[in-house]
Amino acid sequence: MKKSLEDLINIAIENKKNSYSPYSNFRVSSVVLTKKGNIYKGVNIENAAYSVTLCAERSALSSAISAGDREIDTIVITGDSTMTYPCGVCRQFMAEFLDSDSKIVIANSINNYKIYGLDDILPYNFSKKDLEEK
Ligand SMILES: [Zn+2]
Repeated sequence: MKKSLEDLINIAIENKKNSYSPYSNFRVSSVVLTKKGNIYKGVNIENAAYSVTLCAERSALSSAISAGDREIDTIVITGDSTMTYPCGVCRQFMAEFLDSDSKIVIANSINNYKIYGLDDILPYNFSKKDLEEK
Protein backbone atom coordinates (compact mmCIF):
# COMPACT_ATOMS: atom_id res chain seq x y z
CA MET A 1 0.00 0.00 0.00
CA LYS A 2 1.45 3.33 -1.03
CA LYS A 3 1.89 5.70 1.86
CA SER A 4 0.69 9.26 1.56
CA LEU A 5 2.87 12.19 2.56
CA GLU A 6 0.68 12.64 5.63
CA ASP A 7 1.30 9.00 6.58
CA LEU A 8 5.06 9.51 6.26
CA ILE A 9 4.95 12.65 8.41
CA ASN A 10 2.96 10.85 11.09
CA ILE A 11 5.38 7.91 11.05
CA ALA A 12 8.32 10.32 11.42
CA ILE A 13 6.67 12.17 14.32
CA GLU A 14 5.79 8.91 16.06
CA ASN A 15 9.34 7.65 15.57
CA LYS A 16 10.84 10.61 17.47
CA LYS A 17 10.31 8.55 20.62
CA ASN A 18 13.23 6.35 19.49
CA SER A 19 15.68 9.23 19.38
CA TYR A 20 18.76 8.63 21.50
CA SER A 21 19.52 12.20 22.54
CA PRO A 22 20.44 12.19 26.26
CA TYR A 23 22.87 15.12 25.89
CA SER A 24 20.96 17.65 23.81
CA ASN A 25 17.44 16.38 24.58
CA PHE A 26 16.73 17.47 21.00
CA ARG A 27 14.95 14.65 19.21
CA VAL A 28 15.08 14.27 15.44
CA SER A 29 13.42 11.61 13.33
CA SER A 30 13.57 10.90 9.63
CA VAL A 31 11.63 8.61 7.33
CA VAL A 32 12.77 7.61 3.86
CA LEU A 33 10.36 6.36 1.20
CA THR A 34 12.13 4.64 -1.67
CA LYS A 35 10.87 4.44 -5.23
CA LYS A 36 10.15 0.74 -4.59
CA GLY A 37 7.67 1.86 -1.92
CA ASN A 38 9.67 0.75 1.12
CA ILE A 39 9.98 2.82 4.27
CA TYR A 40 13.11 3.21 6.41
CA LYS A 41 13.23 5.06 9.70
CA GLY A 42 16.07 6.82 11.47
CA VAL A 43 16.67 8.92 14.55
CA ASN A 44 19.51 11.00 15.86
CA ILE A 45 21.91 8.86 17.88
CA GLU A 46 24.13 10.85 20.21
CA ASN A 47 27.36 9.75 21.81
CA ALA A 48 29.33 10.76 24.92
CA ALA A 49 32.09 11.64 22.44
CA TYR A 50 29.90 14.27 20.79
CA SER A 51 31.49 14.25 17.34
CA VAL A 52 30.48 10.61 16.86
CA THR A 53 26.78 11.58 16.90
CA LEU A 54 24.75 10.36 13.94
CA CYS A 55 21.92 12.45 12.55
CA ALA A 56 18.46 11.03 11.86
CA GLU A 57 18.70 11.72 8.12
CA ARG A 58 21.92 9.74 7.69
CA SER A 59 20.53 7.03 9.97
CA ALA A 60 17.41 6.57 7.81
CA LEU A 61 19.28 6.80 4.51
CA SER A 62 21.88 4.30 5.77
CA SER A 63 19.10 1.80 6.48
CA ALA A 64 17.79 2.15 2.93
CA ILE A 65 21.24 1.91 1.36
CA SER A 66 22.14 -1.06 3.58
CA ALA A 67 19.06 -2.87 2.27
CA GLY A 68 20.19 -2.21 -1.29
CA ASP A 69 17.25 0.14 -1.80
CA ARG A 70 18.98 3.22 -3.19
CA GLU A 71 16.40 5.09 -5.21
CA ILE A 72 14.99 7.70 -2.86
CA ASP A 73 11.54 9.11 -3.51
CA THR A 74 11.05 11.17 -0.34
CA ILE A 75 12.84 11.92 2.90
CA VAL A 76 10.84 13.42 5.76
CA ILE A 77 12.62 15.19 8.61
CA THR A 78 11.01 16.25 11.86
CA GLY A 79 12.52 17.42 15.11
CA ASP A 80 11.89 19.27 18.33
CA SER A 81 12.05 22.74 16.76
CA THR A 82 9.28 24.26 14.64
CA MET A 83 11.11 23.31 11.45
CA THR A 84 14.20 21.13 11.74
CA TYR A 85 16.40 21.43 8.67
CA PRO A 86 19.22 19.01 7.84
CA CYS A 87 22.78 19.93 8.82
CA GLY A 88 25.44 20.47 6.18
CA VAL A 89 26.85 16.97 6.54
CA CYS A 90 23.43 15.42 5.92
CA ARG A 91 22.83 17.67 2.92
CA GLN A 92 26.06 16.39 1.38
CA PHE A 93 25.11 12.80 2.29
CA MET A 94 21.76 13.30 0.55
CA ALA A 95 23.53 14.63 -2.55
CA GLU A 96 25.02 11.17 -3.04
CA PHE A 97 21.67 9.36 -3.19
CA LEU A 98 18.86 11.80 -3.99
CA ASP A 99 18.14 12.75 -7.56
CA SER A 100 16.55 15.81 -9.08
CA ASP A 101 13.00 14.61 -8.44
CA SER A 102 13.51 13.35 -4.87
CA LYS A 103 11.51 15.29 -2.31
CA ILE A 104 12.89 16.59 0.98
CA VAL A 105 10.05 17.29 3.40
CA ILE A 106 10.66 19.39 6.50
CA ALA A 107 7.68 18.74 8.73
CA ASN A 108 6.34 19.88 12.05
CA SER A 109 2.89 18.30 11.58
CA ILE A 110 0.64 17.16 8.74
CA ASN A 111 -0.62 20.74 8.62
CA ASN A 112 2.78 22.39 8.69
CA TYR A 113 5.45 21.17 6.28
CA LYS A 114 7.56 22.36 3.36
CA ILE A 115 8.78 20.40 0.37
CA TYR A 116 12.18 21.05 -1.19
CA GLY A 117 14.45 19.54 -3.79
CA LEU A 118 18.15 18.89 -3.34
CA ASP A 119 19.04 21.97 -5.39
CA ASP A 120 16.98 24.10 -3.00
CA ILE A 121 18.86 23.03 0.11
CA LEU A 122 22.30 22.37 -1.39
CA PRO A 123 22.80 24.36 -4.58
CA TYR A 124 26.03 23.93 -6.55
CA ASN A 125 26.71 20.69 -4.68
CA PHE A 126 29.69 18.48 -5.26
CA SER A 127 28.66 14.97 -6.28
CA LYS A 128 29.62 11.97 -8.36
CA LYS A 129 28.85 13.95 -11.52
CA ASP A 130 31.86 16.15 -10.76
CA LEU A 131 34.13 13.10 -10.60
CA GLU A 132 32.75 11.91 -13.94
CA GLU A 133 33.59 15.25 -15.58
CA LYS A 134 37.26 15.39 -14.62
ZN1 LIG B 1 22.85 16.00 9.97
